[in-house]
Amino acid sequence: MDKATSKGRTKRIGLMGGTFDPIHHGHLVAAEEARFEFGLGKVIFIPAGIPPHKTRKDISLPAHRLEMTGRAVASNPFFTVSDLEIKREGRSYTIDTVQEMRRLFPGNDLFFITGADAVLEILTWRNVIGLLEICSFIAATRPGFKLESLNKSLSHLSHQQLSKIKTLEVPALAISSTDIRKRVQEGRPVKYLLPEKVEEYIYLNRLYK
Ligand code: NAP
Repeated sequence: MDKATSKGRTKRIGLMGGTFDPIHHGHLVAAEEARFEFGLGKVIFIPAGIPPHKTRKDISLPAHRLEMTGRAVASNPFFTVSDLEIKREGRSYTIDTVQEMRRLFPGNDLFFITGADAVLEILTWRNVIGLLEICSFIAATRPGFKLESLNKSLSHLSHQQLSKIKTLEVPALAISSTDIRKRVQEGRPVKYLLPEKVEEYIYLNRLYK
């Protein structure tokens, strides 16, 4: 596997996109697994400012999601967090993010990592053809995810475009942000589903109540 670095710069960079409301161990395992499997020199977590397809009105404030993500990744030297989408005005279109990352890292191969359920909808994303020219995708699948559904929804893409979309099975993605929010609301435990520092932050700020 190509884990080379040139002139101190990592060759392959992972961009971990998500709403992260909240970030949990499934996300962290997915990023670490992607780093290992695809030889990524580092993974940059990018919490979405205003997620493009979300209609849920009660998404936590971007500042909370950024802080939780920072706490979650702090102990991994290969992980960092970017506030690029949170600082940008308007909806967080991935094409804008990836174009900005391309400018910041001109000589690197970019891999956008996100949930396979999100990648299922990729043909509805803004400028998907441009996106696939700039970066590859790593679609992290939950247990029970049917790969045929992905193949079906991507059937309009050319062979070359399809080759830019990789899948990665992540059993730990049985954990979900939706379930964690529900558990907190119902007063049920979330211990071991997410990092302790994130759990503390949720209770301290009375999120999901
Ligand atoms: P979502 O609909 O909240 O999530 C879809 C599924 O993917 C959920 O099961 C979710 O689980 C999982 N997931 C989300 N991010 C993940 C990650 N990084 N690793 C593993 N699983 C993940 O998706 P979203 O958060 O709104 O969007 C995901 C990414 O796609 C974001 O970066 C977003 O900006 C981008 N996106 C771009 C466009 C566009 O450019 N037009 C449109 C849609 C999405 P959890 O709930 O447990 O996270």
